[in-house]
Formats: sequence, structure tokens, C-alpha cells
Amino acid sequence: MDRETLADWLAEGRSIESIARETGRAASTVAYWVNKYGLRSQHAKQHASRGGVEREDLEALLAEGVSIRAMAERLCVSYTTVRHWMAKYELTTPRGRRLAETASARANGAETTEASCPVHGHTLFVRRGADGFRCRLCRSSAVHRRRREVKRTLVAEAGGACVLCGYDRGLSGLHFHHVDPKEKAFALSRQGVTRSLAAARAEAAKCVLLCSNCHAEVEAGTAKLPAALLL
Ligand SMILES: [Zn+2]
Ligand SMILES: [Zn+2]
Repeated sequence: MDRETLADWLAEGRSIESIARETGRAASTVAYWVNKYGLRSQHAKQHASRGGVEREDLEALLAEGVSIRAMAERLCVSYTTVRHWMAKYELTTPRGRRLAETASARANGAETTEASCPVHGHTLFVRRGADGFRCRLCRSSAVHRRRREVKRTLVAEAGGACVLCGYDRGLSGLHFHHVDPKEKAFALSRQGVTRSLAAARAEAAKCVLLCSNCHAEVEAGTAKLPAALLL
């Protein structure tokens, strides 16, 4: 960063944070050069005298989804100072807003409530544990991820391909087919995989991996599993 530009910006009354935003650098980097060149931010003086924080800086950090602790670090002030100015400007972190929104539901023991999710906006929240609420959409996408993870593991362990035709292009196109239908404890391809990996693995051991097409043919009796697999 060159001294000239930096000095001009500071003279215009720009804060370290706003220069950092404009140049796409970390505030700590800008602060480093300001110090190196023996310059000084006008805000530093103000901050020092009144422990102040600019609303604009707080809003920018909030938009980044930064926690209060990280804001304090970036702005070189204490945690309490950030809290103080957040309250003064009537700003809240997404977490703070969520806690406020779910406070009455927590107090009256409701199972669901509405609150704002940083990802899904204003939406339904469901109870999690004794004192928390979680966005229902975030929760189901976490469940979905977990299911795919377990399935990916089991499919790899089962050879990664349809035992009849060798199809291996997609996880969703591969099914676990129970060699002995009477042993069908639970459907592995659906809710089964939300069980523990160990339980799902025990179940997968009783299955063969088939692609959607071969699975349909086996179920219809038009295709037969190799005898070696039926042992
Ligand atoms: Zn969400
Ligand atoms: Zn197949």
C-alpha cells in the first residue's frame, strides 16, 4: 500500500475498516501500513477519547456475519465496547436476533417458533435440546448431508458399482437390495442410513448393490442375481 493514498484516505476521515473493505485487505494489514508510515487514523483518536465505534463499520462486519468477539478484534476495541455500541445503534447479530425472537417460545416450552435464519430468512424453527431452537430447513439439510455421507461410505464398501451391470456413475442411482427379502430390517436407501453407521453397515452386509434399472428388473424377476451372491 502506498503512503500517499493511505494518507489521503485517512485525511478524508476514512476508518481503517472502510479502507480495508475498499482495498480488499484485512484491517490488520491496513493498520500495519498506517503504523509503518507513521500515519494515524482520525478515528483512532476519536476511539481513544470516547471508546467509539462507527456504525458503518459495525454494519459492514455484521453483513460479513462476524461474531462480536471477532468484531472487537478487527476494530481493536474490547468485547464490551462492541456490545455497548451495538446496543447504542440498536444493531443485533443474527445469533442475538434469533435468541430474542425465540425467547418467548423458550420460556413457554413451545416446540416450534418462527425466527430468522441467516441462510433461509424468516422461517420455522424447531426445538433442539432443552433451551435451543434450530432452523428446520438447516436441520433437514444437515440430515440430508449425513445420509449421503453414510451412503457414500456403504456404497464404497460394497464395491461402488452395480453387481449386475457395473453402473457406478451416481450415488442416487445405486440401491442396496436385500438378498433375502425376509431379512429386510429397514430400507437402507432411505431412513435407514440415519441410524448409526455401524447399524447401517450390518444391514448393508445382507445386501447387494444394484443400479435403479437392474434393481427394478431383479424385483420384477426379469433379472437374476448371480448365484455366488446368494450364498
Ligand atoms: Zn436455515
Ligand atoms: Zn445395474
